[in-house]
Amino acid sequence: MKYDKYRVDPKKKIEIKDFDPNESSLFEGKKSEARDLLRELNGEIEALQEQLYAEGKHRVLVIIQAMDTGGKDGTIRAVFEGVNPQGVRVASFKVPTPIEMAHDYLWRIHQQTPGKGEIVIFNRSQYEDVLVVRVHGLVPKAVWSKRYEQINAFEKLLADEGTTILKFYLNIDLDEQAARFLARVEDPTKTWKFNPGDLEERKLWAQYMEAYEDMLNKTSTEQAPWYVIPANKKWYRNIVIATILRDTLKGLKMGYPAPPADLETYRRLLRGMVSPEVLDEVHDDIRDDHKKEGLLKPKGAEAELEAYLAMRRADEA
Ligand code: ADP
Repeated sequence: MKYDKYRVDPKKKIEIKDFDPNESSLFEGKKSEARDLLRELNGEIEALQEQLYAEGKHRVLVIIQAMDTGGKDGTIRAVFEGVNPQGVRVASFKVPTPIEMAHDYLWRIHQQTPGKGEIVIFNRSQYEDVLVVRVHGLVPKAVWSKRYEQINAFEKLLADEGTTILKFYLNIDLDEQAARFLARVEDPTKTWKFNPGDLEERKLWAQYMEAYEDMLNKTSTEQAPWYVIPANKKWYRNIVIATILRDTLKGLKMGYPAPPADLETYRRLLRGMVSPEVLDEVHDDIRDDHKKEGLLKPKGAEAELEAYLAMRRADEA
């Protein structure tokens, strides 16, 4: 999937209007096929996350920004479906609390960045401080205008110290937002999500787009690039983001930590402790697991298992 066209090139100036929120050009198949693809990607992400956690070496930060109803929550749910909650965390940033307000705006952010072996997803982020804060004039321009550089420096620090950063702007348009608000007021299970204040924010759409455009142009860097994801179609948004995440995790070239010395001795010892039936069950489970997670398990594991089984059959014969 050639998703580079959604990446904001740090060397070029972009305009949001040039990104079509409706397009789905990188996937030719039907919606149901996209669902199958997402399931496959979920399996791969699950296996890669397991390695990330096991290896305990890399840190991964995924930042998601969008207008109201843009689909932040839905994206997180869909892309991380099935992933072991151990080692993955969502940090949501709302209106700052008094304690947060008493500090610089990056104080609360830095506390939530991922540790080794962890994936952290930011649902809103430091970028609120150049978006809502700018649009509503919560601090003077002299203050917010310096923040782009500060955020770049902050993200460079994280990247230099070994954090992989991905930033997604979920690009919906005004019509799609109206439809999604409507869905909230029409669906009794979704009315709780509807906040009349959001309609006031909607009137500031043009100002928000200006703020987003500046953010994308000033803070897309080599070490922390922005992707403008077409997000009117939820299924498309999900497969594009899941693909970028899968590829990024794969790019970390992770492996499983080395086993303890003398593994063979322990293997024999433990095999001797169980009945042949239990041994078969364990091996069946391992094979099922490997199948489910694709080709990501260590090379040779399958062959090693087969060789052992052949040896056992020979022993029994
Ligand atoms: P969400 O819309 O993310 O599901 P909420 O409805 O609680 O969650 O909205 C969170 C609100 O907090 C948003 O309106 C957002 O603009 C606001 N917010 C986040 N960060 C800041 C900030 N630094 N300063 C002011 N408002 C902020």
